[in-house]
Amino acid sequence: MKQLGDMPADEFETAGKNLIDWISGYFSRIDELPVLADVEPGWLKSSLPEGPPSSGEDFARIAEDLENLILPAVTHWNHPNFHGLFSTSTSSPGILGELVAAAFDQKAMLWRTSPASTELEEVTVDWLAKILGLPDGLFGLIYDTASVSTMHAIAAARERLDLDIREKGMSGRDDLPLLRVYCSEQTHSSIEKGLITLGLGKRSMCSVAVDDAFSVDCEALEASIANDLENGYRPFAIVATVGTTSTASVDNIKRIGEIAEKYGLWLHVDMAYAGSAMALPELRHHIEGIEKADSIVVNPHKWFFTPFDLSVLFIKDREILKQAFSLVPEYLRVTEEVTNQMDFGIQLGRRFRALKLWFVIRYFGVEGIRDRIREHVRLAGLFAANVEKSDRFELAAPFNFALVCFRAKSEGFDNDQLNEELMKRINESGKAYISHTKLNGRIALRLSVGSIRVEERHIEEIWSLVNTTFEDICGR
Ligand code: PLP
Repeated sequence: MKQLGDMPADEFETAGKNLIDWISGYFSRIDELPVLADVEPGWLKSSLPEGPPSSGEDFARIAEDLENLILPAVTHWNHPNFHGLFSTSTSSPGILGELVAAAFDQKAMLWRTSPASTELEEVTVDWLAKILGLPDGLFGLIYDTASVSTMHAIAAARERLDLDIREKGMSGRDDLPLLRVYCSEQTHSSIEKGLITLGLGKRSMCSVAVDDAFSVDCEALEASIANDLENGYRPFAIVATVGTTSTASVDNIKRIGEIAEKYGLWLHVDMAYAGSAMALPELRHHIEGIEKADSIVVNPHKWFFTPFDLSVLFIKDREILKQAFSLVPEYLRVTEEVTNQMDFGIQLGRRFRALKLWFVIRYFGVEGIRDRIREHVRLAGLFAANVEKSDRFELAAPFNFALVCFRAKSEGFDNDQLNEELMKRINESGKAYISHTKLNGRIALRLSVGSIRVEERHIEEIWSLVNTTFEDICGR
């Protein structure tokens, strides 16, 4: 007789316990694994059968392939020497939260379809706002990524314009002015993608120049707005960043808030990366004036010990977001006076993401989270101080949070080529991963510190690796 139903409970228990053991072992040996997957493109695909198995396999067999086939093709974001892009801070309580969320498999569209997910999300994002010192009264909502959070914020800002875009759309209309959003040249590409997605188009984005510290030039910002008004355009939002992607630079929120107020513009603050660092009261000067923000995005999946994905959008006026997105078909109509999270975004069903964030906050506590973030800032500071003392390297941007932008310099070398070669060799060594950016037309290397496993010895290791690699290339 065919066996129907789920994996038998005893098998689930054994497989589950074995898998937790395997994950635990993975973390114990992660230091020894190459940070970047040491495989050629197509290796995994060619190692897997072309078709699915016709009958089910033993879970132990599947777990063997996890070790032998999947693991070699994994880039180890949790490696303590993963310093590229923005490093990830995934923690075990967060992983356990993911496990339980999958077991509950909530689709929190209506309160009724998941009171736990709806209410825990409200409570947890409220806790997060308190931990980060954000203004009271913000409505927080969890989305998957900052790109999606920001797109929703721009949609809300557009809704506030009373141009009836929700009803009439933007195409085939000659009564619409060119709508404009202002941000800096250092703004994350998600802003432009959001504008494209919302049908506003790339030309609705105005990229304003930055100063020597890679923060938006506020005079140029105001001049761009005034100029657009003269041209008959309709400015409607400013996106400011606290912790830009290339250099972790910080826009002047206070001044930008004043400009936004003066011209009646929506202020969205992208602190996807650095928002977590606001847990440290000593860093809150970076968000002075934040109370003028209409919306703020923070990514706990970057630096708040929460596994990907979890991004929080905080918004002052939840009704405008609802006005932009609420659309209730008959089969979802309810009479209860409750928050139905499907009303606040493009998604209908929503994962129970709050659970992992709740586990993280409860397990580490506010002080535990602060201590860990503070340590990351200290460790990155050690690397930055080494760079400043060295005659081989220089800082390529002011040091902020836990990101160091630096470059190698050597007489007689093309410095861009030198830095690219340095990065290539470091990354190929498997011992660490760093990434790059371009600042004022020149290559700069980026070292981000944020793994929950990182210790001072890892920073000593990467500093030593950077130096020995420099010696190998330059012969001195
Ligand atoms: N904003 C900033 C400042 C970022 O650094 C990033 C990613 O690094 C994003 C937005 C996009 O984040 P996500 O991958 O969550 O969309």
